[in-house]
Amino acid sequence: MVLKSVLIPIGTYGGELFGMSEQRCKPIQRVADNALRIIANVGKSAPMHRIRQEMGVTTINTRASDLRERAYFKYPTLRTWISDLVKQPIRSQTSTWVTGTARWMKRYCQTVGRGNTVKALQHRYTVNDKTKISAWIKAHNMRNTGSWMDLQMRHPDIKLGLQDIGKIRMGCYWTAQRLAKAGLIPKMYIERCPFCNKNTPETIEHMLIECFRWNSIRHETTIFNIPRLYRTVTIDQSTNNQALNQDLDNFAKTNIEVYSFMQLISKIHLEIKFNCL
Ligand SMILES: [Zn+2]
Repeated sequence: MVLKSVLIPIGTYGGELFGMSEQRCKPIQRVADNALRIIANVGKSAPMHRIRQEMGVTTINTRASDLRERAYFKYPTLRTWISDLVKQPIRSQTSTWVTGTARWMKRYCQTVGRGNTVKALQHRYTVNDKTKISAWIKAHNMRNTGSWMDLQMRHPDIKLGLQDIGKIRMGCYWTAQRLAKAGLIPKMYIERCPFCNKNTPETIEHMLIECFRWNSIRHETTIFNIPRLYRTVTIDQSTNNQALNQDLDNFAKTNIEVYSFMQLISKIHLEIKFNCL
């Protein structure tokens, strides 16, 4: 992936110096986020933390801070003049590179040691992430990264379906209900599915499992797995049955049928949604 192998290494070049400050990393992060949005094919309002998780990309700040932490522990062991500089830091009223790094780690990491900076920052991002989609992923005990990206190479014929599932996982899929709420199609579709004309909103679950407009397509693709999927989706959350929740995750990972289903409905889906405009 170009972002991981080119853009982020360029963006964090010299991260030993500017890491551990969200503010300093912001301009670079903006560029990386724009690239990520283009790759994921999502809009400006997309939940970036969830998308980074799904794509397996870290923030510029995490990477740069990790570099700075690494340097803090590594430089004193080197045989060049940098070790003398770090071992005998200049005394100054203001924060220097050495004192600044130590203070940051003491303040934000529970224990000072190699690798704790990344953990502290990841914890910070997770706590600050209040999006619905992240809560959903957590509630269903799903893994952070889906299989749809790797499958794109092996199954180019169902690329649309794979990308749609990716969008669902990243909380960026536009169901009819969401379009109606945003005022892009008539308000009546907040409570009504434009595909089967029933008085139920078109949600992800309705589209995948219930909507009878897709019955014939479902028959060709997901029909054998539907009872299992249905049981998993409608499971009572209070029982918190991890095995079943995991099942939904595994189901989407191992079964190409869901992707084929999305592929087959995607074109009609788009057409009808556009006709509603
Ligand atoms: Zn429907």
